[in-house]
Amino acid sequence: MPSDPNGAVSVPNTHPSALAATVPLDALREHYDAVLLTYGASLDRPLGIPGEDTLLNVLSARTFVNWYNGHPYHSSLLAPLLDLSKLEHATIIGQGNVALDVARILLKDVDALREYDVPEPVLAELARSRIRRVDIVGRRGPLQLAATTKELREMLNLPGVAFDPSDRALLDQAAQDVAAHPKMDGARAKKRALGLLQGGSKATLADSRRSWSLEFLKSPVELLPTADELATAPTPLEGVVAPRNIGAVRYVQNELVPPSSAASTTDPSGFVARATSSETVSPTSVVFKSVGYRSIGLPGLPFDEKRGLIPNESGRVLETSTDPRGSATIPGLYTSGWLARGPTGVIATTMFDAFATADVIAADLAALPDGKEKRNSAGDEFLIERWRGGKRVVSWEDWERIDRVERERGKEMGKLREKITSVEEMLDVVS
Ligand code: NAP
Repeated sequence: MPSDPNGAVSVPNTHPSALAATVPLDALREHYDAVLLTYGASLDRPLGIPGEDTLLNVLSARTFVNWYNGHPYHSSLLAPLLDLSKLEHATIIGQGNVALDVARILLKDVDALREYDVPEPVLAELARSRIRRVDIVGRRGPLQLAATTKELREMLNLPGVAFDPSDRALLDQAAQDVAAHPKMDGARAKKRALGLLQGGSKATLADSRRSWSLEFLKSPVELLPTADELATAPTPLEGVVAPRNIGAVRYVQNELVPPSSAASTTDPSGFVARATSSETVSPTSVVFKSVGYRSIGLPGLPFDEKRGLIPNESGRVLETSTDPRGSATIPGLYTSGWLARGPTGVIATTMFDAFATADVIAADLAALPDGKEKRNSAGDEFLIERWRGGKRVVSWEDWERIDRVERERGKEMGKLREKITSVEEMLDVVS
């Protein structure tokens, strides 16, 4: 957790840069009547299985998503991690929208991406890709699919990419379950999604070079090196001096059972996975872990470790996470978005959170007794001078300039924008 040289607590930065200045939270609170914590969820949940941290070509979906979006930290990071020209089969663990995003980028014709804002180095690497097959693996069944209809439809409509319904009977069974329980949570959306999957893709397996599948009721229990490397005994410093490549995933087969809290329920949509004694091993050449994100707490502030969020009531940060209902709020401190609610929901959900929290802040500010406001026009300058540590401060106008330059560069190349993917170059643009 980063802290300033005086030991004060600051907002966590998982990609610390030597170019960044750190302003402690206490200093902000001293000068502002409202401080809003909305730094999202920057960690990914681990699988917690052998091989996850030691084998090559095992990475988080977050790393991959950041790379293809031109995140400055990940732009230089992926090149040594992954060589798409050597990989044919990808496995994605988890069946949410992030998993579908990763699959779509891996499978879509690279020429169809050129007009958008995908950075040129990313397009070049995708053009070298030999990925032909992507399996998206879920621990539960089609009824519990986390991905949404719009994203599934987009995948099914990808030109030249076939959907392989690996177990059609499971899809049919799930459709029957929805029909039998019309009042289940999200029944209409589930019915639509299942109908789409039953209908299949426009492209067929026979005439497509690329394909994808949804595999259900499988939990990974071990990531294994390639068969050749499996024959070699691991070195004492495995993963550090002699890293081996992922070659296969060992899965346990699951069955679905009611959660223990609702053992008598017959609605299968909330059923949970229970491991059976049956196992399978599936070869693969790269694994993307896509089982959700996680926020980071701040020392000195309450954090709900179980749910991975800052406890709050309508955005007002609570003093304790252990008994949220009886807890008082911390004056002047607010939270919103994934940090406040957990890493779920689409962009619109997060926008509505932001509007609601802004209303709460505005109401609290309006209720402040006259003369009690901390905010004064000297605050910004004082904070910047006190904490900049000789670093270049980027203003709103600077950001607008970077945005303009990116759009201009994109226009010259016939695309939406060409992103600047290094902080140094961004600073060059505004200096
Ligand atoms: P998500 O929707 O929560 O999906 C996580 C997936 O990982 C689920 O299939 C979950 O299965 C599985 N999972 C969790 N723990 C697991 C474990 N230990 N072993 C195996 N599988 C496990 O998360 P996400 O895909 O990261 O997306 C986060 C949020 O961003 C979502 O609300 C999503 O809709 C949103 N998003 C939206 C878009 C879009 O609108 N286009 C794009 C990207 C993301 P269980 O259900 O069994 O837990």
